[in-house]
Amino acid sequence: MSEVKSELSQIIAERINRIRASIPPEVKLVAVSKYTTTEAIRAAYAAGVRDFGESRVQESKLKQIELADLDITWHMIGSLQSNKAKSAIAQFDWIHSIDRLSLAEHCDRLILEIGKSPKLLLQVKLADDPSKSGWSESELLADLEQLKKLQNLQIVGLMTILPLGLSETQADDVFSRTVELAAKLRSLGWQNIQELSMGMSADYAIAVKAGASIIRVGNQIFAT
Ligand SMILES: *Cc1c(COP(=O)(O)O)cnc(C)c1O
Repeated sequence: MSEVKSELSQIIAERINRIRASIPPEVKLVAVSKYTTTEAIRAAYAAGVRDFGESRVQESKLKQIELADLDITWHMIGSLQSNKAKSAIAQFDWIHSIDRLSLAEHCDRLILEIGKSPKLLLQVKLADDPSKSGWSESELLADLEQLKKLQNLQIVGLMTILPLGLSETQADDVFSRTVELAAKLRSLGWQNIQELSMGMSADYAIAVKAGASIIRVGNQIFAT
């Protein structure tokens, strides 16, 4: 191993240890590897991370092939075009970005066809953000009846991404409202809505305090 390599591994391990030490053990850390190399992913794996997040179906395929010797749980976190849904279902163990009814319906058919059912999170958007997709609360409540018919889907929770530039108080408010929405869904019979994928490098501490069960951290682990 070259010296540069081992130095990178060490930095990545230190960052992961610092993050892990700051969150409860039951919170799942997804290391977002979309901008990094397979070498850095191996370093994070060596430091104990088993969950990795990618945002592009095709690009991630190459990494997944190269890392097939590792026992990785792959999370699709980026927005998903319908024509990539089939590959996403085949390649990923979790999909965090089910953000519209038409995509959910499409996945329901594909899952039956492929015979593989990843865990799915419904992406919600409880603060205005034209650059992000996702259901608002009222939109999601309106679509519940249709979603309920999609028997092949393994929907296990909600995911949200904050708009840029919120204060800590505003961020906490959006995360807390996401937690409340999950509780509301459970009270409506959606007992399987247990997971909350919330928080990235800039805001995961706030998200965890609000009740996140999964955080998605890229830069704070892999920045060079
Ligand atoms: C890129 C990305 C992340 C990670 O963001 P960082 O700021 O690098 O931690 C998390 N979630 C989603 C949906 C992303 O696209």
